[in-house]
Amino acid sequence: MRNQLLKTGEIGVFALGGLGEVGKNTYVFDIEDQLFIVDAGILFPDEHLLGIDYVIPDYQYLVENQERIVGLFITHAHEDHIGGIPYLLKKVEIPKIYAAGIAVDMIENKLLEHSDIKPPKIEEYKSYYKFSFKGVEISFIRMNHSIPDMFGIVFRTKEGILFHTGDFKVDYTPVGPAAEYDKLAAIGAEGVLCLLSDSTNAERDELIPSDSKIGKSINELFSRIEGRIIIATFASNMYRIQQIIEASVLNGRKVAVFGRSMERAIDIGMQTGYIKVPKDYILNAEQINRAKPHELTVLVTGSQGEPLAALSRIANGSHRQIKAMAGDTVIFSSSPIPGNQEGVNKTINKLFRLDVEVITHGPLADTHTSGHGAQSDLKLILSLTRPKMFIPIHGEHRMLKTHKELAIEVGVDPKNILVMDNGDLAAITKDSIRLAGKVTSGEIYIDGTGIGDIGSQVIRERKMLSEEGLFSVVLSINSETKTLINDPTVVSRGFIYMKGNEEITASLSNHVKKMALGELGKKMFNEQTLRQTIVDQLGQIIYELTQRKPLIIPIIVDLK
Ligand SMILES: [Zn+2]
Ligand SMILES: [Zn+2]
Repeated sequence: MRNQLLKTGEIGVFALGGLGEVGKNTYVFDIEDQLFIVDAGILFPDEHLLGIDYVIPDYQYLVENQERIVGLFITHAHEDHIGGIPYLLKKVEIPKIYAAGIAVDMIENKLLEHSDIKPPKIEEYKSYYKFSFKGVEISFIRMNHSIPDMFGIVFRTKEGILFHTGDFKVDYTPVGPAAEYDKLAAIGAEGVLCLLSDSTNAERDELIPSDSKIGKSINELFSRIEGRIIIATFASNMYRIQQIIEASVLNGRKVAVFGRSMERAIDIGMQTGYIKVPKDYILNAEQINRAKPHELTVLVTGSQGEPLAALSRIANGSHRQIKAMAGDTVIFSSSPIPGNQEGVNKTINKLFRLDVEVITHGPLADTHTSGHGAQSDLKLILSLTRPKMFIPIHGEHRMLKTHKELAIEVGVDPKNILVMDNGDLAAITKDSIRLAGKVTSGEIYIDGTGIGDIGSQVIRERKMLSEEGLFSVVLSINSETKTLINDPTVVSRGFIYMKGNEEITASLSNHVKKMALGELGKKMFNEQTLRQTIVDQLGQIIYELTQRKPLIIPIIVDLK
């Protein structure tokens, strides 16, 4: 069934994730009633989502329109673009996944962990490939980013060309292959109807350093350090890992690797040729004990302060193989992702307690650069492609808004720019762009094992528990004789200390007693109603007394 919000001939564009946030990028192009999905990412939540490992989009729209899905097109292998694939495949049948280079390996690897999924064919595309569908031709443009094989996607339609940039920075001296600026200029000359472009760094107007500059800086840093080096970075940043290995080799250091995702990245990187290490330069856990401090680089996960990652365990003193000590230098070759700052600070403080030297990215040492272009980069892409219409993507609302301003400066008509939220549907023809309405969108929370979806109710309860504590009321009744067996017992955890508050607890118990007798006295006694009455009325009383809203759990034992 075609989307009724679209008029015949209109192209639909919407996001299930990625607008108003940096994460869970999932964009959908509805062209000639065919759905082309671009990316299927996850979002790493901040600390407000207690105990939640990640967030995925609500895929309901795709479930309902499954038969129109043509394929899933992956721009690159970052988790905010591929992390949702297993969850998407559990809900929706996808005819084919299109991915390039390292993304193919990363996706295959990821799907190995989900034996319950029968994955579709993964078609590996190259930058010069073209795929034809009814009324659409899809092709690719290589861009530079903090992971190899990042491609923008070109949709050539009857209405005109739509170009989705994916994540990018403009790097004239990239570590890997150069971006295909010639292709960008070519589609610009041909005429781009609508550009969708990465807004992550739209608010930054400085120059984002080239990746090769960071390589030089790491090498220089290594040459000055005498003791053991422990360095943390993103496992997905193959270029950075290669730079760290090269700096180690140049400075006579061998490399030990800790952390599951880092070990896996090095395996995949070496198999695919993205990471090159001279023979015998990777040490195993036993060999590191024999290496002298100045001959050793320890490459670890945990650059974001993740509690279970190798670096956090080293900082806690709970890592089995690596004990950090005076003389060691810990380098963060990363910047904290918004939301992770606190975790990173905790790790750094613990490392300082161990008397180790800590170097983070900053004015003194260029140990990291962003993978996303700042204002001048964004303007360059706008200038090369010269789009008639523009939709800023991949960013929080204010980043999208700033990106809109940049597009106006470069000459895009403000009427032709849509700043959208997840679920907003843009309808595009060669002459017009309009907001056509909304499709179903939302968030699904994935907890721990990733087995169950968690609703927002659970999150609310966890939040209440952590901030306001828990309050349980135990009462024994006999629903047949309609009597209360004994006085209700009130138990609290994390709410008020029971000792010294006997008066409050006695009065609360008394209130519950009255509620119970009131309900029992009714002609039709209903345990569920009693439970709800306790939650509502007791909640009200407690709030009036203490201005707090603990989680209230009535436990009713019916001894009929
Ligand atoms: Zn990315
Ligand atoms: Zn991204």
